[in-house]
Amino acid sequence: MDYEVIVAGGSVSGLLCAREIARLGHSVLVIEEDHEIGTPEHCGGVVSISGIEELGVVPTRGTLDNKIRSASMISPAGKSFTLDARAQKVVVLDRRDFDKQIAHQAKNNGAEIRVRTSLKEINGNELKTSEGVLKSHIIVDARGVTSLIHKDREGILQSAQYEVYADWIEKDRIEVYFDQEKYPGFFAWIIPTHADIAKVGVAGKGINAAVALENFLSQKGKHSVVRKIFAPIWTKGPIKNFVTKNIVTIGDAAGQSKPTTAGGIYSCGLGGIFAGRAISKYLESGNQSDLLGYQKAWSEKFDHEFQNMLLARKLLERFDNKAIDKMFESVTPQILEEISKEGTFDFHTVSLAKLLGVKGSVKAVQTILGSEFRRLLT
Ligand SMILES: Cc1cc2nc3c(=O)[nH]c(=O)nc-3n(C[C@H](O)[C@H](O)[C@H](O)COP(=O)(O)OP(=O)(O)OC[C@H]3O[C@@H](n4cnc5c(N)ncnc54)[C@H](O)[C@@H]3O)c2cc1C
Repeated sequence: MDYEVIVAGGSVSGLLCAREIARLGHSVLVIEEDHEIGTPEHCGGVVSISGIEELGVVPTRGTLDNKIRSASMISPAGKSFTLDARAQKVVVLDRRDFDKQIAHQAKNNGAEIRVRTSLKEINGNELKTSEGVLKSHIIVDARGVTSLIHKDREGILQSAQYEVYADWIEKDRIEVYFDQEKYPGFFAWIIPTHADIAKVGVAGKGINAAVALENFLSQKGKHSVVRKIFAPIWTKGPIKNFVTKNIVTIGDAAGQSKPTTAGGIYSCGLGGIFAGRAISKYLESGNQSDLLGYQKAWSEKFDHEFQNMLLARKLLERFDNKAIDKMFESVTPQILEEISKEGTFDFHTVSLAKLLGVKGSVKAVQTILGSEFRRLLT
């Protein structure tokens, strides 16, 4: 064998997985098809400080773009409310630097990384790559949503995200715009990275994301676009089996990003860490059950929350613009205060339930939600 483990995909989940495997004394190679780790960046970079701490990464000055103080939600008719995000300690990362920081950690532990090397095919222990055939005991699929496209197209939404310069950007406030006609099943967002600079994006079912984003920007006002990216996002939750024989699937490739927002730095990163530890254990014991321990660990941490997120998504998808506007009308300062104080960024369905339930005042919403809503609160 050339390596005990080969990881295909050198982003957050793949690199954290390799970092753990190397730390535990096993040989591991990461192959990344792009020409540079972290590039092209296709992420908003919004994450909680506690989340990245749990991933074992302390952001450097280069990694940290911005600190967020509040998040405003805007309804189709222009009604809005603002959440104070200070208690949740939310930051915006520069994913190019963040991924390189993890690559450095992995390398320091003894992992090898090769860029411009793409996985083409897996045959047992053999990997056909763009640079020749390699052999390993375990193969880790960390190729992101591209890996899911071949398996299931249904949960995929197209997104567009531009880097924008404009004076209507507020430096420490995220903005989220709901409109079921323009962005069905998702939303438009403004994520500030610096003064007058933001990542502005949209996603939605069956939309032309580029056209929707151009329309959104022209309504916002004067701006310059300095970078454009288009990427699929996955909102259908985890796949059934993370481990099949000697192939271990992690991160976005395993559907480990949040079904509500498609945020995945934290939950995909932890997927990589749990997988790395389980693989190392398996390499020492030879027991398949040790390998399966990875799925058990991830599920214990996230299954309950992800099931609730899937439910919240299902419920929100049934809302039309009128129902969303009504829901916004009923949000009280007391609810906002509760969410700002108690809510956590990474496990947010209780906050969502509070917003959806809003004091039992919106009859239409209550009827739509029915008993399913009560499940969300449990
Ligand atoms: C527009 C957008 C905005 C987002 N905003 C946020 C956010 O604000 N906060 C948040 O937490 N999450 C966000 N996400 C989600 C987050 O980016 C992902 O969940 C996270 O990057 C998943 O990491 P990963 O390592 O599993 O996969 P990816 O980051 O997708 O990495 C997969 C890697 O595999 C490589 N690869 C693909 N095929 C091959 C191959 N055949 N051989 C070798 N290498 C290959 C790719 O080049 C890539 O480097 C956003 C996603 C998008 C699309």
